[in-house]
Amino acid sequence: MTVTATTVALDSVVEAGDGALVTVPAGGRLQIVDLYGNQAVDTLFYDAHDIDNRYSAFDTIREQRAVFLTIGSRLVSTRLDELAVITDDTCGRHDTVGGACSQESNVIRYGESTRHQHACRQTFLRYGAKAGIGQRQLTHNINFFMNVPVTPSGGLTFEDGLSAPGKYVEITASRDLFALISNCPQVNNPCNGWNPTPIQLLGWW
Ligand SMILES: [Zn+2]
Repeated sequence: MTVTATTVALDSVVEAGDGALVTVPAGGRLQIVDLYGNQAVDTLFYDAHDIDNRYSAFDTIREQRAVFLTIGSRLVSTRLDELAVITDDTCGRHDTVGGACSQESNVIRYGESTRHQHACRQTFLRYGAKAGIGQRQLTHNINFFMNVPVTPSGGLTFEDGLSAPGKYVEITASRDLFALISNCPQVNNPCNGWNPTPIQLLGWW
């Protein structure tokens, strides 16, 4: 069968707090839809043939000379390979400096009573295991749809989202990729509008 770039290869809903591991072939387009608005989608990208060649927030920011991600942003790896490019974006701005939530960071920020709460880090480890991705490979992530403004003095704050129901972002893979996604379960700050909700993943390849 001849597969063209317009074949719908993926159409699935990721429930609030759940995750996914998606293999996107070079040239494939992956769209993440914020179905209900203001939902942070923590995402890691890896070279599917070498998981140690992974997304680097530092290198991406330096290469594009901008802190936020949107259309045209080249997502580069720790080896400066282009992993993907953001090719469509109806939200307009995405964070890559705020990091992903973990049980440990929840305890530090919100107190001991939050230690039992599910966090992105557990989702990354659960779904990443299928591709051999373990703690060593969990580093910088992108927070699609998350609003982390940088203050004039260089500070970071988690604000209510810029996103709204139906807004989407699309990446086009520059090489064979793993996209490791955590549909963030955080309920202690406004990154998910205090109410985590489902997202949709669409793929064409
Ligand atoms: Zn999270």
